Amino acid sequence: MRPNTMTALEKSEPREGLWQVQAPVPEIGPDDVLIKVNKTGICGTDIHIWKWDEWAAHTVPVPLITGHEFAGEIVEIGRDVKGLDIGQRCSGEGHLIGTESRQSRAGKFHLDPGTRGIGVNVQGAFAQYLRLPAFNVVPLPDDIPDEIGAILDPLGNAVHTALSFDLLGEDVLITGAGPIGIMAAAVAKHAGARHVVITDINPDRLELAAHVVPAVRPVNVAQEELRDVIAELKMKQGFDVGLEMSGSQAALDQMVEALVMGGKIALLGIPPGKSPVDWSRIVFKAITIKGVYGREMFETWYKMIAMLQNGLDVSRVITHRFPVAEFEKGFRAMKSGRSGKVVLDWT
Ligand code: ZN
Repeated sequence: MRPNTMTALEKSEPREGLWQVQAPVPEIGPDDVLIKVNKTGICGTDIHIWKWDEWAAHTVPVPLITGHEFAGEIVEIGRDVKGLDIGQRCSGEGHLIGTESRQSRAGKFHLDPGTRGIGVNVQGAFAQYLRLPAFNVVPLPDDIPDEIGAILDPLGNAVHTALSFDLLGEDVLITGAGPIGIMAAAVAKHAGARHVVITDINPDRLELAAHVVPAVRPVNVAQEELRDVIAELKMKQGFDVGLEMSGSQAALDQMVEALVMGGKIALLGIPPGKSPVDWSRIVFKAITIKGVYGREMFETWYKMIAMLQNGLDVSRVITHRFPVAEFEKGFRAMKSGRSGKVVLDWT
């Protein structure tokens, strides 16, 4: 019944690309489950690994099966696992945490400094089978399809960032209209924000943002000034909350400028290196800044599943679907900068 080998996408050599290989099906330990993977999402992280940039070369061991966004079903259960059944559909948290650190022992698992990532530090989800600690499994309700299950990891980034501050009745600026920025816009509207404005300089992404979240106001900052948009929307001073999703220095500057006194910023975008910040502006505007990493375990997962069941719709952010045999097309779509989420089918 259990096959010996499986198809997987592997970083086999320390250079550009990923390779489809036959790999052994993982053996599970007493606290693990084996998941038969049905769908996976391609992440920006996977593009860094594909390109083998400096970060990837310093972080990712070779060979490694990559990928961390997945949905599937449990096919094997370790002997000490309780509360999960064979056949349970699931997604899962790809950050593997320890239990020794102060943060973990305080229940703040997402702040464990020893976190390792599947598909980045340990064997990942771009495979027909994935070993995962049972602790990391997130069961999927019947009304959430595998395709959405496969993008809960990045949706979780969006939810974690968007829910960093109270959004009810607030005006929200999102800089960066990649898939996570777009999903954050959907979450902000769902959470009761009044105006949600999303900026980028890529017209394809702004078009996708408007397609996924019709209530959002897309702004191409290469052509339009935020201060004109603030006036158009009849906002008195500016935005109450900023969600920075681009890693762009210019975007952060624009955000600080467009925020009200006492505004709040959640930062998810990763700048390419050290970048100059006008700190005096931030001090004099009394701005609160929060760095966001990953998803809260497992509060973010709880909230996002509840919101999906309560009408949050991010399905249109998935723009491309390929069988795994055509994974190269999927990566090409991602690298073009014109796609939303790309989902690979492993069934
Ligand atoms: Zn990801």
